[in-house]
Amino acid sequence: MNANVAAAKAALSHLDIEGNDAAIRANSRDFFWYSPVLKARLDHVVADFVVRPRTEAEVIEVLKVCHAHDVPVTTRGAGTGNYGQAMPLAGGCVMHLKHLDRVKEVHPGRVICEPGVLLKDLDAACKAQSGQELRMFSSTWATATIGGFIAGGSGGVGSCTWGALRDLGNIIRLRVVTMEAEPRILEFRGEELARVSHAYGTNGIITEVEMPLAPAYDWVEMFVGFDDFMKAARFAEGVANEDGILIKLASVFEAPTAFDYFQRVKPHVTEGTHLVGLMVAPHSMDGFLTFMARRPDARMVYRSDDNDWARGPGPVFEYGWNHTTLRALKVDPSITYLQVRYAFPRHLELVERIRNDFSPEVLQHLEVMREGGKVMFAGLSLVKFTTEERLDEIIHLHEAAGAMIFNPHRYTLEEGGRQTVDDRQLAFKREADPKGLLNPGKMIAWDDPDWGYDRMYAWPGLKTAE
Ligand code: FAD
Repeated sequence: MNANVAAAKAALSHLDIEGNDAAIRANSRDFFWYSPVLKARLDHVVADFVVRPRTEAEVIEVLKVCHAHDVPVTTRGAGTGNYGQAMPLAGGCVMHLKHLDRVKEVHPGRVICEPGVLLKDLDAACKAQSGQELRMFSSTWATATIGGFIAGGSGGVGSCTWGALRDLGNIIRLRVVTMEAEPRILEFRGEELARVSHAYGTNGIITEVEMPLAPAYDWVEMFVGFDDFMKAARFAEGVANEDGILIKLASVFEAPTAFDYFQRVKPHVTEGTHLVGLMVAPHSMDGFLTFMARRPDARMVYRSDDNDWARGPGPVFEYGWNHTTLRALKVDPSITYLQVRYAFPRHLELVERIRNDFSPEVLQHLEVMREGGKVMFAGLSLVKFTTEERLDEIIHLHEAAGAMIFNPHRYTLEEGGRQTVDDRQLAFKREADPKGLLNPGKMIAWDDPDWGYDRMYAWPGLKTAE
């Protein structure tokens, strides 16, 4: 494919285009560097230009022009994704959606907005207008966009009650623009949502979203300490299984994670403290404290509504999900992570077995989730990285034990997912992006349908380092 970048850039010069090289480079990067494997392969990746459309009509114009000149387009929300999702592997255009940030309508139980609104701003608008909030958000709530969460994320704070983003009902409607000579605007609901949600923007650009809401609360945030890891894990699972107690977060951190990596928590714990982070609705606190009193091993370390710490810890959810990895990485750059699924009903048994096999090389960090109505765990385990071979071995041993891995050391949809082709996403890409210009290199099924998944996929089109 012969991209005519100069012609595309000239045709779009009346839009908000970034001309500064340092800014273009910054806008070409996401949080891929959490993975030493991806860092070694993608560090040099940079777009040719960055454009920031202000309206859906301008999004269409960018797609139309880039289509005409065969220029790849990688969409960017806030660039907080891991897996190299927003890295423009072939260069070309990064289309940054920061200006598409309007909250259009708030109704009982749902909100309609543009994709570039930050999760925190969306929550603030819903709360101010109607006393409601998002059911779930990534722990990057303060910095990430709703569009990026839908196209790149999977779940997060709230998933202990509401399940994952892909679960029916957790996205209501998406408006999507295609990458064709004459881009079309499509509206997806129900079965059609799976075409573009968690598709990394490889087959359509989301220009409007409709998301479900729940009543907003001033959540009580807590840290509860334990001397025994499995008691901590059972506590988190148990509170999520209490049908009358409303929670938004239950995270479990194996010792010495809190002591070594949570700087503001450190003075309040010991090296041996296994920690549970929680968000509980204020009206559920009586129930929660009764639950806790029945477990004398549980020790209250921090409570946001009754706190005498000289320096508060900040939001407890910013210790959970992939913020745990971030905090660990800041202290020890050799740390990386794995994304694990410990499915019901073997979740506790699997966690115990894998911990016995790998701790402390792999420290357990669990997030309570609901899957098919059952409480189970997502693991975002902290891994002490030594070599790529050892990392692969750890992954294989997890899989052999029965724990599914969503490998965050791969940049393709398939390898970071279930290692299989998503036929719905592929079929829609054939229809909506016939030239294969949207976020190229991220969908193996498009580039190499016979790929055997026996080794890491290396996209042949990846720009080489200069
Ligand atoms: P980006 O990184 O900009 O984009 C993500 C993907 O979506 C890219 O492939 C991009 O091309 C595509 N995209 C963006 N906007 C659109 C659009 N409008 N149409 C089509 N495609 C689009 N993820 C979770 O699921 N849960 C978590 O709790 C979580 N915690 C995290 C914590 C940390 C510290 C970090 C670094 C990451 C975390 N993530 C988590 C990953 C990531 O932050 C989330 O997925 C986040 O919501 C992505 O939003 P973003 O705006 O930064 O998207």
